[in-house]
Amino acid sequence: MAAAESDREVPSALCTEFLNFSAKDTASKWLQVTDLYKEVYQHLARYVPKIYCLGPNLNPQSEDLLAQLLLQAPLEWYLCGEDPSTGLAKLEQNNQPSQLCGHVFRVGEPTYSCRECAADPTCVLCMQCFLGSVHKEHRYRMTTSGGGGFCDCGDTEAWKKGPYCQKHEPNISDSCQEDPLAHLSTDMIARCYNVFAIVLKYAVDMLTWDKEDELPPGLEPPDRGDTYYCMLFNDEVHTYEQVIYTLQKAVNCTQKEAVSFATTVDRDGRKSVRFGDFAFCEQAKSVIVRNTSRQSKPLRVQVMHSSVVAHQCFALKALHWLGHVIGYSDALRRILCQVGLERGPEGENSSLVDTLMLCDSKMWKGARNVYHQLFMSSLLMDLKYKKLFAIQFAKNYRRLQTDFMEDDHERVVSVTSLSVQLFTVPTMARMLITEENLMTTIIRTFVDHLRHRDLQGRFQFERYTAQQAFKFRRVQSLIGDLKYVLISRPTEWSDQLREKFLEGLDTFLELFKCMQGMDPVVRQVGQHIEMEPEWEAAFTLQMKLTHIISMMQEWCATDERVLIEAYKKCLTALTHCHSGFTDGEQPITLSMCGHSVDTIRYCVSQEKVSIHLPVSRLLAGLHVLLSKMEVAYRFPEQLPLSELSPPMLIEHPLRCLVLCAQVHAGMWRRNGFSLVNQIYYYHNVKCRVEMFDKDLIMLQAGASMMDPNHFLMIVLSRFELYHIFSSADCRKSYNRENTNKDVVQQNNTLIEEMLHLIMMVVGERFEAGVGQVEGCDEIKREIIHQLCIRPMAHSELVKALPENENKETGMERVIDSVASFKKPGVTGRGLYELRPECAKQFNLYFHHYSRADQSKAEEAQRKLKRQNGEDMALPPPMLPPFSPLFASLVNILQCDVLLGMLGAVLQWAVEPSGGHWSESMLQRVLHLIGMGLLEEQQQLKNSSEDHDVSFNFTLKISRPGEAPSNTASVLALLENLQNAPHLEVHKDMIRWILKMVASIKTMRELTASTYTVTASGSHGQEEMVCDKDKAERKRKAEMARLRREKIMAQMSEMQRHFINENKELFQQSLEELYASASTSTSLEHSPTSSDAALVCVGPRRSRPREKRQVVTCILCQEEQEIRADSKAMVLAAFVQRSTVMSKNRKRPPHDPEHYDPLFMHPDLSFGTHTGSCGHIMHSHCWQRYFEAVQAKEQRRQQRLRVHTSYDVGNGEFLCPLCECLSNTVIPLLPGAKGSNSCEQPGLGQWLKISGQQIKAMHSAHRKLQPVGVDAVEETVEEQCPAPESFRIDYTPMSPYSSTIKEMLTTFGTATYKVGLKVHPNEQDPRVPIMCWGSCAYTIQSIERLLVDEEKPLFGSLPCRQDDCLSSLARFGSACWTAASQPSVQGHYIRLVAALIPDPQVETSPCILDIDMLHLLVSVVLSYGSVHSQDSSGLSVDAVQLHFFHIITVAHMVQMLLTSGPEEVTMEQESGGAEREEEEDICALYNTLRTHLGSSLPEVASGWHLWRCVKTGILPYLRGAALFFHHLNGVPTPPELHALCPGQWEVLCGYLSLPSNLLQLYHSQKELLEPLLYGWCSHPGVRQTLQGGGVLVSFPRESNSLIDLPDDYSALINQASSFTCPKSGGDKSRAPTLCLVCGSMLCSQSYCCQTELDGEDVGACTAHTFACGAGVGIFLRVRESQVLFLSGKTKGCFYAPPYLDDYGETDQGLRRGNPLHLCRQRYRKIQKLWRQHSVTEEIGHAQEANQTLVGIDWQHL
Ligand SMILES: [Zn+2]
Ligand SMILES: [Zn+2]
Ligand SMILES: [Zn+2]
Ligand SMILES: [Zn+2]
Ligand SMILES: [Zn+2]
Ligand SMILES: [Zn+2]
Ligand SMILES: [Zn+2]
Repeated sequence: MAAAESDREVPSALCTEFLNFSAKDTASKWLQVTDLYKEVYQHLARYVPKIYCLGPNLNPQSEDLLAQLLLQAPLEWYLCGEDPSTGLAKLEQNNQPSQLCGHVFRVGEPTYSCRECAADPTCVLCMQCFLGSVHKEHRYRMTTSGGGGFCDCGDTEAWKKGPYCQKHEPNISDSCQEDPLAHLSTDMIARCYNVFAIVLKYAVDMLTWDKEDELPPGLEPPDRGDTYYCMLFNDEVHTYEQVIYTLQKAVNCTQKEAVSFATTVDRDGRKSVRFGDFAFCEQAKSVIVRNTSRQSKPLRVQVMHSSVVAHQCFALKALHWLGHVIGYSDALRRILCQVGLERGPEGENSSLVDTLMLCDSKMWKGARNVYHQLFMSSLLMDLKYKKLFAIQFAKNYRRLQTDFMEDDHERVVSVTSLSVQLFTVPTMARMLITEENLMTTIIRTFVDHLRHRDLQGRFQFERYTAQQAFKFRRVQSLIGDLKYVLISRPTEWSDQLREKFLEGLDTFLELFKCMQGMDPVVRQVGQHIEMEPEWEAAFTLQMKLTHIISMMQEWCATDERVLIEAYKKCLTALTHCHSGFTDGEQPITLSMCGHSVDTIRYCVSQEKVSIHLPVSRLLAGLHVLLSKMEVAYRFPEQLPLSELSPPMLIEHPLRCLVLCAQVHAGMWRRNGFSLVNQIYYYHNVKCRVEMFDKDLIMLQAGASMMDPNHFLMIVLSRFELYHIFSSADCRKSYNRENTNKDVVQQNNTLIEEMLHLIMMVVGERFEAGVGQVEGCDEIKREIIHQLCIRPMAHSELVKALPENENKETGMERVIDSVASFKKPGVTGRGLYELRPECAKQFNLYFHHYSRADQSKAEEAQRKLKRQNGEDMALPPPMLPPFSPLFASLVNILQCDVLLGMLGAVLQWAVEPSGGHWSESMLQRVLHLIGMGLLEEQQQLKNSSEDHDVSFNFTLKISRPGEAPSNTASVLALLENLQNAPHLEVHKDMIRWILKMVASIKTMRELTASTYTVTASGSHGQEEMVCDKDKAERKRKAEMARLRREKIMAQMSEMQRHFINENKELFQQSLEELYASASTSTSLEHSPTSSDAALVCVGPRRSRPREKRQVVTCILCQEEQEIRADSKAMVLAAFVQRSTVMSKNRKRPPHDPEHYDPLFMHPDLSFGTHTGSCGHIMHSHCWQRYFEAVQAKEQRRQQRLRVHTSYDVGNGEFLCPLCECLSNTVIPLLPGAKGSNSCEQPGLGQWLKISGQQIKAMHSAHRKLQPVGVDAVEETVEEQCPAPESFRIDYTPMSPYSSTIKEMLTTFGTATYKVGLKVHPNEQDPRVPIMCWGSCAYTIQSIERLLVDEEKPLFGSLPCRQDDCLSSLARFGSACWTAASQPSVQGHYIRLVAALIPDPQVETSPCILDIDMLHLLVSVVLSYGSVHSQDSSGLSVDAVQLHFFHIITVAHMVQMLLTSGPEEVTMEQESGGAEREEEEDICALYNTLRTHLGSSLPEVASGWHLWRCVKTGILPYLRGAALFFHHLNGVPTPPELHALCPGQWEVLCGYLSLPSNLLQLYHSQKELLEPLLYGWCSHPGVRQTLQGGGVLVSFPRESNSLIDLPDDYSALINQASSFTCPKSGGDKSRAPTLCLVCGSMLCSQSYCCQTELDGEDVGACTAHTFACGAGVGIFLRVRESQVLFLSGKTKGCFYAPPYLDDYGETDQGLRRGNPLHLCRQRYRKIQKLWRQHSVTEEIGHAQEANQTLVGIDWQHL
């Protein structure tokens, strides 16, 4: 649209030319010309260099404006043939919006997919479409976009259901097949075509232009000056730091500018860093190149002529413009597509689109992004042209990929990343396979890039250089493309598709042949290997291909003909791999138990063996499919079954399995970790489907085609165990002569492994095709076996199950049938528990169990059985029958060789002294026997009446061996073993077997008489009872004892661990313990004697009986009484600055050196909090401990640069008992001594006395001051005589011992240092102020916590907090003894002056600017310094009460002044009870109005005022009660230990206040009236009331963390539109939300680093200091992770308050389940914050996890 043509600023020289320019005229001239192309180019050549690139700094606004006016406007006029504003509007009317949404995702934007309906996981919706779609009710998946890619809404192929959202639902009335061009006139089409062709050609010319100093013909500028740019390009080799450093050197810029250059280069791909003449730019270039060429290839720099840069800028603009214009009309979009794909003069692949694609890797990032975007909004939005584009893309595929390999940019900025948009459309993928042979192309391209082969043509990754490794990583993206192509399976096959697919499969097999046998290993004997061989690359390849292999098989499974052909091809490939199979290997003959077989001599332990056998495994997969699809029975004639040589099939898989067994047996120890890792991955859930599982299937397939005796003999031979079992007297002689313990041990393990393998071959029937099962039976069984280990969370289960290419495990379909879900609490996660009825399907020898899993599962299942009172046998479970193709496998169980082996092992067990055997060997044998029996039982049950069951295991095991040895039968041996004392553990199993044998015998007898037997388990119960006699009980008792012992041993080890893991729990129980202890003590000294109500302040205060307080030092365990003159005892404490209660986060930080902290503003904008873990030490014990910590820290720093969770240099240490973070200690002091005094002065009299005292102090202090300062005033002021009893010159003795004095200084200095953030200075007069402030602030914060937690004022605090408050209050009242008395008295005078006018104090704050609790605490605590000089008998109690009363009145006045206008409420009528208060308050309010006049609104109702005051003053009264209770040690009234009604009266009574607080004023009206007047006449009051200051209203609500949305995606969305505040409009990479104030920050990024105390810190750390006085709580939105920060060096991550439906958090957003706010957990975080425990939490987290310590928290 043409912009308004007014008020612009253009360079004056050009003004006239520009003002005379008319877009309309230019356009009409163009309409006349014959060579439009030339004309437009001339126009561009003339204007572009005049608009763009006129100086060092680009000016996007004015450039864009001019470009619009001079360049785009004429094009638009020409295009429309009329005023574009009307022309484009007309086009828009006829626009058929695309049904595709096509919204292009920003980085970090949320995307949604549907696990139920999406065709593949790449199908995603934007948030808008998602919210309007059916999928929001489905099981959806949420992720954040990495940028690029677009919304698939409207693509019918992307969704199985609900492809449209409400907005993109097609309008049925419109015929969508209509040609969009039908609406346009031919003229219009022609003009449009012309413009697009010229503009697009121009853009392509310019963007692909690679000359620095010249322009394409026709664009040469009329006049060219010597103006150049030094252009710096992005690469992925150099780091930010390197670039910044180099730039500072090369172009003399500041660090800030360099950072900005580097950021732009990173974002846009290039940036001019210098403008000037050629030589000037060339010089910068050479510096940059020189500086960066040392380690790597240099940064790319070009010196470009300004006109070239100008045209390139406009070319980008032109592409933007095209994208904008086609947005008006689908017709224009189609024309642009036509223009773009039109074949150029160079023939094939020469269209403009092709040119762009093929030059992709040569363009800079910004240019690529712009044209990719244009492709997305044009070619990909037009279904017809999308197809044509896809074909071009496929044609160029090989070249594009090759370019991509050479390019060093990330894949997202490569055109190759468009493959996901094209290949995942199923029809498109199929079309590309059949027409462009895409499958073959991809695989060929892939194989071509892996060049290194060994002599046999197999891949060899070992010698990869860094460059090749880099390429190897990039080439993997091709596998991704292949996956896209295969992801949706064809529903019908054409002959062409078959042909091309099989051609693809052929290529794929070529790839496999290069992998078969790669990375072979040879057992290392003698020496350990010197260097771990490379193995990761091969496994990466295998892992990446896993899904492809599975998908190939699934494709085969959809068409019989394809399957048969694929099977043949695969078999041929395998035969090819095996050519020369027997060469050089000697044939041998094995014979055993009357059977013999020919095989080769081969030892895994001596020759090469490889774990990579993809060809064999693919064949195994196809073989199962033959069985599953019954192709094998229906078309046997088409299959090359006769060509199969079973021994050949099993040979390599068997070697691989034997290798695993030998590794387990420890025979390959010298081969190092690489082999161990390979074996691990071979079994791992990520690989096993196409590795271990398939090897097992291949063994099953081979064995099913062989004589079982032959199969077993070959197995024995490969396990290198043949010699043991084949000898005639193997039952006796095994190992007797062998004395090498290692060999014995090895052989034992090998026998165990082999028995396990046989179990698996016979027993693993849950793969559909092997056994007669459904697909979901397999997954059910996996889940059951996982849950047999222990209950598991959803994510744990998902991790244990193999995922398919859609990242689905299929678990959701079956989980509910096998497990029940248990919801999580405030911690932990939701768990699935196995349904009890599923436990009987437990198989101890489940093939996917690792050894650790197996023993855990065994333990768990035995425990379960014990709990249910069942016997302890864990017999094999019932199995489904085999498919016919595999049916013969059961015969392995009853073959002679196996029975021979079973007999041998049993015989060894009977005579344990003779041979070496193992219990697990026996256990496996028993299991195998159990399997045989179950098989027989099953067959008997299922057999029809007259059919004889040939499987007769019972018969075979009852038969004794033949002559001459006449060995005992298996059954006889079992009966023998039943009574063997050394086999207690196996008795239940043996008993179970014997029972089965009996039951089968009866069955056989009954079948003979045609009687069907029902379950066998039930009868036998009775006889069992008899069996379980004393011995049984004894055995159990013995086992219990052993278990106890074991547990006890574990306990001590675990305890430490446990405490660390469950800190919170531990803390809680400790607190409970303390709480109960403290209640009992408080009961103890509650005054049962006096019935008088308890009072905590004033002359009437209750005097607790003096009692000795004795504590124990946690370090030396000695007891110590707390006395002023004894050794100091201290509490570990942690002082921190806090803004938790702040009502004003905007207050600027004060200047620490000059700040006067005496008065706290009621906004509490920041305070100093003191907490303690409550652990007590001797001060000297603590000092020694701290010195040791310091020394250790010094040593540690010298040795290795490990950080600790605490900063010793800053005085931090961990409490020696509970490891709680501390930074100082508070001394414990005895309580105030109560002196029952005589008559005390009333208020009036005391005011007089106090006035005199203050005057006396004034003059005394003046004397102390250096002469001359106030000399004049001194003479004026009359010498005021002090009251006689006030000995102003008297300096009292400190009552404290030297150690206590020392500790008074220690804590005071620490509070001062932390609270003000200054260097420690014990002389600073502000030290005591900070201590009083911390006392008041801590009391206030605890009072708030109690309210928030709905706990009573007293009795609910953990003991440690009670102790902490007492020590703080007592410390506060004593700290003046450690400071200079005059300065403390000076504070006192200024404090008092704020209440009682004092002409000698010049500036006092107005009462609206004073927090009254702080004032009360400070004034009471500072009074000690005055009282010490008073000998008149005036009691401290009386003074405390007077101050308390005056401050209470002041607080009421404060509230009346700030009470808002009354709200009209219904229940204004109150009972008569409070009438008096209402009248009194009205009277007081009116007095205030007379002083202040109109500044106070008129208020009619006393009810409202009284409400305000009563609720407003409560926190203050409660705080005062806490303070006086702890200061004076008065027991608390029981009513305040509960939340019962009537608290007000009790509280007032306890505080020695009338319950009608107004009486305080009215009873002393004459005395208080002048004070009142003084307060009101302070100029600050009027000013604040008129809006000139911060007005805080009471009561101050507790601060909460910000409200969070229920749905996490709302946060992601919010964060995705957040841009970095510093680098204009850029998306922030790590948007982070402050949970305290709700600010969004750009964290972990260079752009937003700021300087804090001379160090660069990230946005979060900087914000932490502004918002939380050093403590911060954040939510990292992309990571779904809570971040705690403290100071600059400490931090930890914390579980977010968002949970998925399975009760789990998703840190890192990896799982993508919908997340919802868990309020309970959020409250828990809030509580941590409110109770100032964040830093402590960080400390604990860092102690538990040392890796947290190393993180650079300050850069977050
Ligand atoms: Zn959308
Ligand atoms: Zn939509
Ligand atoms: Zn859905
Ligand atoms: Zn001690
Ligand atoms: Zn502690
Ligand atoms: Zn930023
Ligand atoms: Zn904040």
